[in-house]
Amino acid sequence: MLCDLRSDVLAPLSAEVLEAFNRATQRPPAFGRREDADCQALCAEAAGLFGFEDALFVSTGTLANQIAVRLWVQPGESIIADRGSHLATNEAASAAGLNSAVLRLIDGDLGHPSATQIAALLSERGGSAADRRVRLVWIENTHNRAGGTILPPTEWQAIVDLAASRQLALHVDGARIFNALAATGERPDRICRGASSAMVAANKIAGAPLGALLLGDRAFIEEAERIQKMFGGLWRPVGPLAAAAGAALRQWPERARVSHDLAAHFAKRLSLPRPQTNIVMLQLESEAEVDRVLAFLADTPVRVSPYRDARIRCVFHPAITHELADMAADLIVRATSGG
Ligand SMILES: *Cc1c(COP(=O)(O)O)cnc(C)c1O
Repeated sequence: MLCDLRSDVLAPLSAEVLEAFNRATQRPPAFGRREDADCQALCAEAAGLFGFEDALFVSTGTLANQIAVRLWVQPGESIIADRGSHLATNEAASAAGLNSAVLRLIDGDLGHPSATQIAALLSERGGSAADRRVRLVWIENTHNRAGGTILPPTEWQAIVDLAASRQLALHVDGARIFNALAATGERPDRICRGASSAMVAANKIAGAPLGALLLGDRAFIEEAERIQKMFGGLWRPVGPLAAAAGAALRQWPERARVSHDLAAHFAKRLSLPRPQTNIVMLQLESEAEVDRVLAFLADTPVRVSPYRDARIRCVFHPAITHELADMAADLIVRATSGG
């Protein structure tokens, strides 16, 4: 059986999600998002869960993030983000190509820029005011490339206060916010409190077939819908997918718990420290060793992702079992000790 640790989008759909999808296909399709009962219910539920006024259901997390960039930042203005953030890596071309945004990057602590670092960047001297015009602070919680790391709540509050005092917008890339919730026990309506907008992925640990929610106040979401359409992302009919995402949003606590247990079990078998959530980053000696491990694993049922700086990412999700995690750990030990 395949043990695919390349992403948490790879878990099969749960019976509840499939049932919600199928049930929604029995209803007549609605023409627009505002007319679709399933989409309305999903957006109301997501907004309520995270304590925002409104929500927009879009096809990908990248689209949700880039709609937010478009609305907070004019061409040539800047966003402060962590150097390893999804925005600065996987979405750098989108931020530049779609939105002409400038990225001002910080080497955060385990992926999280501190309020002090942000304040230091804001008061940097040199250049013209136009070159330095920052509009948006970008936080990724949990942080993928740093290994599923959680933003400490005290740091979050300091960042909220700083952004408010400098009149900066504050966006949370919450592709894995459910993992942060499950690991900390924080209340969903507190974890992004003070943010101007947030993106929450439905297709990662929650287990929807696809989709993400963009959260914000009513005026922001109204504008976001206009940008969604402009970017070619208005999708119809959306009922069954919205119903599936709605069912997924009720399943994250158990799915996250199972995934965090698996990641901890796997790390322990490799004598590594316990990961914060569902991601284990393996630090290898060299890029050549990464190539050797990938070549070795290619002939096995285990799949992993190579990352920058001679690392390998292993992401745990509900399609993995303890037996599969053991097999993966043992094969990785064999691969790194030369087979
Ligand atoms: C997956 C992910 C996204 C969004 O990805 P899509 O593939 O566009 O849905 C954004 N940020 C982070 C941190 C992610 O892991």
